[in-house]
Amino acid sequence: MKLVVVGAAGRMGQTLIRVIKETEGVMLHAAIERAGSDKLGADAGELAGAGHLGVPITEDVLAGFLHADGVIDFTSPAATNEFAALAAQARIVHVIGTTGCGPEDEAKIAAASRHARIVKSGNMSLGVNLLSVLVQQAAKALEAAGWDIEVLEMHHKHKVDAPSGTALLLGAAAARGRGINLAENSVRVRDGHTGAREAGSIGFATLRGGSVIGEHSVLFASEGEIVTLSHSAGDRSLFARGAVKAALWARDKKPGLYSMLDVLGLSA
Ligand code: NAP
Repeated sequence: MKLVVVGAAGRMGQTLIRVIKETEGVMLHAAIERAGSDKLGADAGELAGAGHLGVPITEDVLAGFLHADGVIDFTSPAATNEFAALAAQARIVHVIGTTGCGPEDEAKIAAASRHARIVKSGNMSLGVNLLSVLVQQAAKALEAAGWDIEVLEMHHKHKVDAPSGTALLLGAAAARGRGINLAENSVRVRDGHTGAREAGSIGFATLRGGSVIGEHSVLFASEGEIVTLSHSAGDRSLFARGAVKAALWARDKKPGLYSMLDVLGLSA
């Protein structure tokens, strides 16, 4: 399967290029960076520490998507919107790991999925997707009246969106377990005189610092006891391996918007 990596010079882009090189059945077809990037023209493999691959980093998205089978996209919400439209036109698989997408971005991605096979997830790892299933079950089992749900996350100091896509994914799983809408029941920041905690809400707390790849905990707190479900990411390649798996999985699927739960066979 011929794959394009967009955001090829980024942290995840470089990790993806190394994983694609090591994975049977996929090859790097093109590597895209934004116009003006000082990485344009560099060999994508050499930049990623994967050795010479003969694929220069380019800004030419249309040429890159031509004759490709799929695109893997860990960039920014604005860039992902554009890539979704172009991937739909080219009828190629689009795997989206970008986080921080707002409702308008999500609507554009959903529109593109009428023609494209899109797999989108705030976290591409098996561990976090399994954790989300457990969180949903725990939220259902532990009564809203007695158990408060809080999602705590920490990431490296360069991360630009908060709460993380994974924290929101875990919050959404908890909300599904409780049969409530996350957007209407979440408390995403607390500051100053907030008043007492509202029963049934799902709280988020965000930490940023150093080089932390991704730490997530979901705490279920009641009078006198706390149940904590957590995940720790030690290496970005687990997200990249999940994304490549998603691309291979989506190859023979019908157009639509899929999640990693579908890819991993964990959807209800
Ligand atoms: P990063 O190091 O900043 O990489 C993003 C790359 O995309 C940068 O090289 C950036 O270039 C490039 N880019 C932005 N707009 C572009 C455009 N229009 N055309 C081509 N390239 C463009 O960030 P990262 O740590 O790799 O993370 C990227 C995204 O993936 C974030 O949203 C992050 O939260 C998410 N993520 C998701 C998962 C998951 O499992 N779903 C895991 C890890 C990270 P510039 O530097 O020039 O802007």
